[in-house]
Amino acid sequence: MKAHDAIYIDGAWRPAAGQDVIEVVDPAEERVIATVPAGTALDIDTAVRAARAALPGWAATPPAERAARLTALRDSLEARKDEIAETVTAELGSPLPFSQAVHAAVPVAVAGSYAELAASYSFEEKVGNSTVLLEPVGVVGAITPWNYPLHQVVAKVAPALAAGCTIVLKPAEDTPLVAQLFAEAVHDAGVPAGVFNLVTGLGPVAGQALAEHPGVDLVSFTGSTAVGRQIGAVAGAAVKKVALELGGKSANVILPGADLARAVAVGVANVMSNSGQTCSAWTRMLVHREQYDEAVSLAATAAAKYTDRIGPLVSDKQRRRVRAYIEQGIAEGARLVAGGPDSPRERGYWVSPTVFADVTPEMTIAQEEIFGPVLTILRYEDEEDALRIANGTVYGLAGAVWAADEAEAVAFARRMETGQVDINGGRFNPRAPFGGYKQSGIGRELGAHGLAEYLQTKSLQF
Ligand code: NAD
Repeated sequence: MKAHDAIYIDGAWRPAAGQDVIEVVDPAEERVIATVPAGTALDIDTAVRAARAALPGWAATPPAERAARLTALRDSLEARKDEIAETVTAELGSPLPFSQAVHAAVPVAVAGSYAELAASYSFEEKVGNSTVLLEPVGVVGAITPWNYPLHQVVAKVAPALAAGCTIVLKPAEDTPLVAQLFAEAVHDAGVPAGVFNLVTGLGPVAGQALAEHPGVDLVSFTGSTAVGRQIGAVAGAAVKKVALELGGKSANVILPGADLARAVAVGVANVMSNSGQTCSAWTRMLVHREQYDEAVSLAATAAAKYTDRIGPLVSDKQRRRVRAYIEQGIAEGARLVAGGPDSPRERGYWVSPTVFADVTPEMTIAQEEIFGPVLTILRYEDEEDALRIANGTVYGLAGAVWAADEAEAVAFARRMETGQVDINGGRFNPRAPFGGYKQSGIGRELGAHGLAEYLQTKSLQF
């Protein structure tokens, strides 16, 4: 695993101001595999200055040229896909086939979609006697988490580049190596110096300095609701734009008449994917009381099959957190039908695929984001009850509806307070907007809606 002992600013790798480093740990082996600089407020300041200096030139670069750089970025990510997959497996712990199929492949698709959008997007609109100019917001401070460590970077940097913004990225401390690979890909794509900058560092140090920096026009954050709230407060005080992609507790609603076996199988797979470390995971399965026992038995059997398929959690901190939730579920009276709090292996931060039945809507495990391979199954009486339960959390990020009739599923989905709903399984669409209702966030990522976050409008009247 190659690690840069440096941060990337103004088109070059340079030493950080201080000597502190962050240890990167392989969560499968509990072994330190690399160190990277723990950047400080000084490094953030240098990076923001570089981004500000590069802004006028990049903002004035014709969209076709920005599109060409994005195409080159897409290609340079594709050329590195094996190294990216191996790196994510080493620092996040996900099994290599998943790293290849998701962590390495999705960012290529997203970068490609923004290359196309940059070339085709109307950065000027006519409205009556006005011309509306869509201009870049300015310098973007991007703060990203570790669970989809490259996707979450590309979902911010690609639209920002397409819009003509310049960027300072502070990636998660658990997964900085793939962010370094990304910086190499940006460099090779011929993106001008200063347009993209990378400072690795701790959240409360480098992350906070970035959110607070007066030279940053937009803070785009993905991570926990707790930190999102702090960043929103900092941005609000400075009247800075902010985009927040936060947690979720999404409902998988299986209506009577749906293909129960398929809905449960796909539902369990969705929760176990990435060891449950997915903000949009369908962590609450809602089943009609008449099908409840059958669904529980199907889910318990399905979950057990994931024991050897999923990777560890990213860190000991996350494992402790997830175990505490499992213990709390038991203490609050939920019935454990698969898995449990005990570690299935001696080494590594593993948690067994876990399923809880007899979960009621007010239980902690039905309300809070656990961020591990833990499914809760709730019983409902009728559709109104299902809707009440589905909408009964502070979150609203994703969800699913299964029904015999697609129109019936769509009618239910329209009443859900959530940013995206998969109908009878659905399929990930890298061009569809992704983001939350309620406390799951502010703003949207991906596609044209994601690009719009990085633009501000100026109208000229004639
Ligand atoms: P986090 O919110 O603490 O970290 C996310 C990013 O924010 C990291 O880059 C971190 O360095 C940075 N950060 C932390 N404190 C900061 C601060 N004060 N100012 C600026 N930046 C700061 O998330 P975590 O601790 O890695 O995970 C905790 C929980 O967050 C998880 O269990 C999960 O529930 C949730 N989470 C959600 C997502 C998501 O995609 N919605 C992703 C990761 C984690």
